[in-house]
Amino acid sequence: MIDVPSIFGSMVFNDSVMQTALPKNIYNALMRAVSDGEHLDLKTADIVAAAMKNWAVEKGATHFTHWFQPMTGITAEKHDSFITPAESGRVIMEFSGKELVKGEPDASSFPSGGLRATFEARGYTAWDPSSYAFIKDGTLCIPTAFCSYNGESLDKKTPLLRSMQALDRQAVRILRLFGNTAARRVITTVGAEQEYFLIDKKMYDRRPDLVYCGRTLFGAQPPKGQEMEDHYFGVIKPRVSAFMKDLDVELWKLGVLAKTKHNEVAPAQHELAPIFNTTNLATDQNQLTMEIIKKVADRHGMACLLHEKPFAGVNGSGKHNNWSISTDTGENLLDPGDTPEKNAQFLLFLTAVIQAVDEYQDLLRVSVATAGNDHRLGGHEAPPAVISIFIGEDLSEILDSVEKGEMYSGKKRVPLEIGVSVLPQFPKDTTDRNRTSPFAFTGNKFEFRMPGAGLSIAGPNIILNSIVAEILSRFADELEAAPSFNEALNTLIRRSIKEHKRIIFNGNNYSDEWMKEAEKRGLHNLPTTVDALPRFIDHSNEAMFVKHRVFSKTEIRSRCEILLENYTKTIQIEALTMIDMARKEISAAVWEYQKLLAETIAAKKSAGVFDTSTEEALLAKVSRLGAELYACIERMETAARKGKEIRDSFEGARFCRDSVVPVMGDLRRAADELETLISSKYWPYPTYGEILYSVR
Ligand code: ADP
Ligand code: MG
Repeated sequence: MIDVPSIFGSMVFNDSVMQTALPKNIYNALMRAVSDGEHLDLKTADIVAAAMKNWAVEKGATHFTHWFQPMTGITAEKHDSFITPAESGRVIMEFSGKELVKGEPDASSFPSGGLRATFEARGYTAWDPSSYAFIKDGTLCIPTAFCSYNGESLDKKTPLLRSMQALDRQAVRILRLFGNTAARRVITTVGAEQEYFLIDKKMYDRRPDLVYCGRTLFGAQPPKGQEMEDHYFGVIKPRVSAFMKDLDVELWKLGVLAKTKHNEVAPAQHELAPIFNTTNLATDQNQLTMEIIKKVADRHGMACLLHEKPFAGVNGSGKHNNWSISTDTGENLLDPGDTPEKNAQFLLFLTAVIQAVDEYQDLLRVSVATAGNDHRLGGHEAPPAVISIFIGEDLSEILDSVEKGEMYSGKKRVPLEIGVSVLPQFPKDTTDRNRTSPFAFTGNKFEFRMPGAGLSIAGPNIILNSIVAEILSRFADELEAAPSFNEALNTLIRRSIKEHKRIIFNGNNYSDEWMKEAEKRGLHNLPTTVDALPRFIDHSNEAMFVKHRVFSKTEIRSRCEILLENYTKTIQIEALTMIDMARKEISAAVWEYQKLLAETIAAKKSAGVFDTSTEEALLAKVSRLGAELYACIERMETAARKGKEIRDSFEGARFCRDSVVPVMGDLRRAADELETLISSKYWPYPTYGEILYSVR
């Protein structure tokens, strides 16, 4: 029996540990630093550091690290041990406030998108006391932000914290207008549902494409895919079940509120959902979750794939970002409530989100743009690249009534005044009724379904927080200046609904009709990363980030640069891996099989069997495809070489999309057809069937 309450958070220096380990005045100073961003003096930091070290050493830790999230999308850490030399050749375990608060990793090996060229080579990490320290693999990990010496952020945490602050500032202004003086802070909350594939490690090791790129670059469709729909919520296999139990324990120790687990639609696909948390913590914990899933899988002889689209023709994996806004007093601001006053406040926050998503569709698209996600979005399994909001028929009808200022009650029309009337009840849509929507309202939160499984959720949440902060700030400006709050509120909400309802769509987002309709409505359609990324540095988008101090202009440009580089590098690595696999192993299999056929033909003939038409037809086919394969390899090499010479990052990315990706498609088609023809004895790689059904 596992005693969950006693292991939960046992590796976390959390609030209850701090309350016992720290003197009251020190604890209070630390809490002020967390809630008001007050500076922590070095003496206080020294005491916190000593308590942290004692706690960690007692739990078996020997090292500490500043744990941060550079723009590579994964987490980084550099371990230092606690040991300090003492007299007579002994050592003692030490950890100072200075070491806790600030670190100086060599910034030069992390992507900076040109920031380093213009500024400083050095960077530093600074403790983020709003996220708890924890122990992982005998190391005390201190969550930190990563900046250049000029204060430019070099990570994902800094802008995330800034965006949370921006939203806090604006949302509190709105609450005050509604007479709420109790709430001191507004925070955003996130629950990130994580999808992943589990396959046997032996299969994984035999696929260079999985090892280098995280996804299969070749692979014919297996006889059985997901068409029977027998995997979703199906019985969990014993090996997977053992893994999941182990995973839960590891995550609970780290204070991650892992709650539900089940099989997903595709064979070998699974999902883990945590209970929601403050966005900052949810982001740190999702990064940890991804790391731990991989480790635990390895321990169980399996490999975990977090790529957005590991297999063609089989559903990809996403990460649903459930997002809401709440006060520090625990009120969910996206909960409709049941009094006219609460209804009015809810409507204002709801329309703010709707307006923000409509005005900044392009930024939300940018926030999920990666080479891998391009294979997933719009693939009739994941939301399209066009952003729209699902709010359900009932809430749509309510918004319609609000806009018109009247509603049906029984059979007759009655006036509806925001702040005076009570809204009719509408059912909470928590059941994912419309799974095709990229951005769905599910009763008291929004679910953003476009992020790919491997993405850090920092990006999408930086955008969500910032764009909603921007709309709330405009709302607050207008309402604060109005002589009559109620009148202004009615006008504002009605206008906002009228002007932005085009973003609402409750139908099937996978349909072709919707693509046409979306175009008619003037919504952005940015099918690839290369289409999306230029929108990041659009003037009005840039101005919005600068206004709310989430990004400086330089930071935006450097980030855009990194994303473009990342896209180009990903495609280049994939292209080189394909060339390597096709040249060294697939070609050899093709020759071997041709030899077998030729020998069979010769042997039959010499035995006096002259009808060799079947073997000859097959040989001709394999030979033709082999020639095609070879031609594609040559074309791809030329393209890869050309691509490398392009200096401009936009041009480089565009070239990859237009001249490399299509050749990859051609090469794959030839190889996949060969796979269906060539005897499995010669085929060098495990097939889709073997990989997807490898775990039992
Ligand atoms: P289901 O989709 O299974 O019905 P829920 O709707 O309760 O489950 O939750 C799905 C995810 O949304 C979970 O990770 C949950 O913690 C998260 N979630 C629930 N409420 C909120 C909220 N107020 N803010 C952010 N995330 C939330
Ligand atoms: Mg969901």
